[in-house]
Formats: sequence, C-alpha cells, structure tokens
Amino acid sequence: MAEFDVIVIGGGPGGYVCAIRCAQLGLKTACVEGRETLGGTCLNVGCIPSKALLNATHHLHEVHENFEKMGLMGGAPTVDWDKMQAYKADVISGNTKGIEFLFKKNKVTWLKGWGSIPAAGQVKVGEEVHTAKAIVIASGSEPASLPGVTVDEEIVVTSTGALALKAIPKSVVVIGAGVIGLEMGSVYARLGAEVTVVEYLDAITPGMDGEVAKSFQKILSKQGLKFVLGAAVQGTEVAEGKATVTYKLRKDDSTHTITADTVLVATGRKPFTAGLGLDALGVALEPRGQITIDSHFATSIPGIYAIGDAVVGPMLAHKAEDEGMAVAEVIAGKHGHVNYDVIPGVIYTTPEVANVGKTEEQLKAEGRAYKVGKFSFMGNARAKAVFQGEGFVKLLADKETDRILGCHIIGPGAGDLIHEVCVAMEFGASAQDLALTCHAHPTYSEAVREAALACGDGAIHA
Ligand SMILES: Cc1cc2nc3c(=O)[nH]c(=O)nc-3n(C[C@H](O)[C@H](O)[C@H](O)COP(=O)(O)OP(=O)(O)OC[C@H]3O[C@@H](n4cnc5c(N)ncnc54)[C@H](O)[C@@H]3O)c2cc1C
Repeated sequence: MAEFDVIVIGGGPGGYVCAIRCAQLGLKTACVEGRETLGGTCLNVGCIPSKALLNATHHLHEVHENFEKMGLMGGAPTVDWDKMQAYKADVISGNTKGIEFLFKKNKVTWLKGWGSIPAAGQVKVGEEVHTAKAIVIASGSEPASLPGVTVDEEIVVTSTGALALKAIPKSVVVIGAGVIGLEMGSVYARLGAEVTVVEYLDAITPGMDGEVAKSFQKILSKQGLKFVLGAAVQGTEVAEGKATVTYKLRKDDSTHTITADTVLVATGRKPFTAGLGLDALGVALEPRGQITIDSHFATSIPGIYAIGDAVVGPMLAHKAEDEGMAVAEVIAGKHGHVNYDVIPGVIYTTPEVANVGKTEEQLKAEGRAYKVGKFSFMGNARAKAVFQGEGFVKLLADKETDRILGCHIIGPGAGDLIHEVCVAMEFGASAQDLALTCHAHPTYSEAVREAALACGDGAIHA
C-alpha cells in the first residue's frame, strides 16, 4: 500500500498527460493501467496504428496514381501485409515505450493492473489498496455495438480487429461513415479491397460542414469507395468465412443485403467504466453512460474527477489530453481550463479533412449573421504540384465584427493547416488579421490566407 497525492486510472492520452502534469506540478502521482503498455486506445489500437496504415497505403496510392506523371517509372511495389503489420507494431511500441520513459523522467509511478475505487480516496489494484487525496478517472472508451451484429474480431470486426486483419480482404463493408470508418475504409480501398460504406444518415461524417461532407464523399467515391446512405443496418450473419449485412433503406423501407470478407462496425464508441465500482460509490452518470462532471472535472463524489472519452464531449485524443492538463492544474490549486469552442477535428484520409468552430449549418440555426471566405486549392500552386488541387478552405466570420467563427478545410495538409485558425480563434482574431499575416510561398497555408482575403475584398488567386 502506498500513499499518493493523485492516482490517475487509465494510461491513455487523458490519463498519462494528466499524470505527467500532476508530477510536474509537484504532486506525488501514480497512474493505473491494465493493458500491457501505456498510451491507451490512442497509441495501442486507435490514432497511431491507424495513421501508420494510412501512411503506408497513402504511399501505395501515390505510386499507383501519380508516380508515372512525375516520370517515376518501374511499376507499383507488391504489398507484404505481414511487414506492414510489423511496421505498425514498431510505430506502436516506439510510442508506448516513449510514455514509459516520460513516466520515469517525471517520477510517475505506473501501477500495473486494473484499478477500482472501493471508497473515495482509495484505489485498489490487484490485492493492494493505495490511498490518494485526489483520484482522476481516465478509463476511456470501447467500441459501441449494434443490435443484431455480433462482433467476432475476425470477420465482423471493430476498429481494433480492422487494424490487425490476418490478410487483406477482397471486400469490406463499413457500417458507419464517421471518421474511423472512412479512415479504415480508405486503407483497405488503397490495398485493393472493394469497400462499401453503409450509413444510416443521408450524408457522410455527421456533424461536419455540409459542403465539405459532399465534396469529401465525391472525392472518396472517385477513389473507389461506394456509399449506401440512408440505410438502417438490421444485422449481420456469418457463413463460410464471409459476412452478410442486411439493411433497410429508410426512404422506401426496402430490404437489401451485401456480402463481404470483412465487416467493420464503426458506429461510434461508448464510455468504458466497467469494474471501477462506480455504482457502489454512487457516482452520477449521464443517460448515455458518461461520468457526470462539473466545469472543474469533479464528479458527484468529492475528490474524484473524470476526463477524456469517459466524460461528455468529442471523443478525441487531444480533447482528453487538454482535460488531463486542466484537471491536474485544478487539483494543484491552479485554474485549469479547456476552451471547448476551439477543438479541431481531423480526418487523415487523402485529402485530409479538418475543422474547427462552427459549421455554416450551425450558424444558420443560431440565426447569426456571417460571411464565408472560400478558396479552392486549384488556386494554390503547391497543391497543384502534388496533384491535390481538389478541395478548399472555407472560413466563416461574423458579418459585423469579422471575428473568425469557424474553418473547414478539405485538402493537402488540412490537419496541420487548421491550427493557424485555432490560434487565431484563441486570440479572438478577425479574418482580416489572418489576411494581413504574411504566409510563405509556396505553401498550402497560403490557401488559408486566401480564404481570409475572400472574407474581405477578395482572394488574389481565385
Ligand atoms: C481506430 C481509432 C482511431 C482514432 N483516431 C484518432 C485520431 O486520429 N485523433 C484523435 O484525436 N482521436 C482518435 N481516436 C480517438 C482516441 O483514441 C480517443 O479519443 C482517446 O484515446 C481517448 O483518450 P482517453 O485517455 O480518454 O482514453 P483511452 O485512450 O481509451 O485510454 C483509457 C485507458 O484506461 C485503461 N483503463 C480503463 N479502465 C481501467 C481500469 N479500471 N484500471 C486500469 N486501467 C484502465 C484502458 O486500458 C486504456 O488504456 C481514435 C480511436 C480509434 C478507435
């Protein structure tokens, strides 16, 4: 048994960042993690492995689509799936070991095992009960399932199974056109699989700016992904090594089936709080299972806090990290804060898609007067040089004050470009502030400046 100032339960991006920040603020800190490695969903079965596979297959796509145009002859390489998986495993272990190193460097104790909270101020790991002045629950999330769909992680898989299939499937059905489904759908389409995405709603990427979503769907369709929208999946059946998905089209209630080697269920994630003992403690939960917190990340039980995917909000690693830092500061008596109005979202397909702030649909619904500055990557020399002229930057600003309200980008490097807008929004900048900022040429970021110019007297290269 040991005594700590803070025990964090969960070593994902929320938990490990929180633990490191607590230690940096002088608090004696432990982090409980039940997995063999630190880093949570993100490093082990989420952000990082998916980006490794997206990176490898992006290069393959480039060879097929663009190498010959640039005079790079010699044909496409063959794919060694086992080697690609080994590359992915190396990327994961390099990153998870990095967190272990950071724990040692910052003197965070890793309590290995699954933790529970027998009482406020106590955390039980195995047979040991440790005490802490503050406990932070950062237990993350797990894939959500659908009625009628039985996941076996071989043929009918969640994202975890999809990242580690034994062989490249010839056909894949993705249920759910959200970020994870489209990223993994892209991976397998680039590897030659016939990919069909079945989505309940009438558009892909729910919640995204409508114009971007439409353009994104068009581009992905050109890359070979097929879409069945407005389709309610009724269930799956596995026979002879394949799965058949039955769905009903919402427009006419007609029933259809589609059979594939692999079915990826990518219909979202749900908070993972099993085994923590929250019921017995009486910790208040939201109707959808997230832990209820106040504006200081405090749960209904004094001394117990919660962050990340286990609480309400976008299920994103950087949102979890920001909450991890903020709650550490709250516990240390400082003023931790997360600005939920400026949390970027990125889809790491080619082209990338990124957004921050309000969508046009949200501004319309709010009845807010706004203006739109739009600039196509066709007018960006650098994008054209890498065959990525498709897509655009769309900047939304207040009609009266010119203050930036949101930005939506589909195009090369969108996931990095979005951050200049995030910084601008944090400083309460106007579109003119961005437009007056010198941007190096030739960079993709010039497209952001041009969109800002388009909010004023007009873009130059449009
Ligand atoms: C395929 C995929 C791709 C993704 N890509 C991105 C992306 O590109 N960008 C992005 O921002 N987000 C992405 N996400 C989402 C991101 O992974 C999560 O939002 C993020 O990991 C949440 O962090 P967390 O710390 O709240 O929880 P988690 O990362 O889920 O970590 C929680 C940890 O707590 C541990 N744990 C739980 N209960 C206990 C217990 N009782 N005792 C001990 N340990 C416990 C778990 O083992 C786990 O390791 C992706 C997710 C998936 C599945």
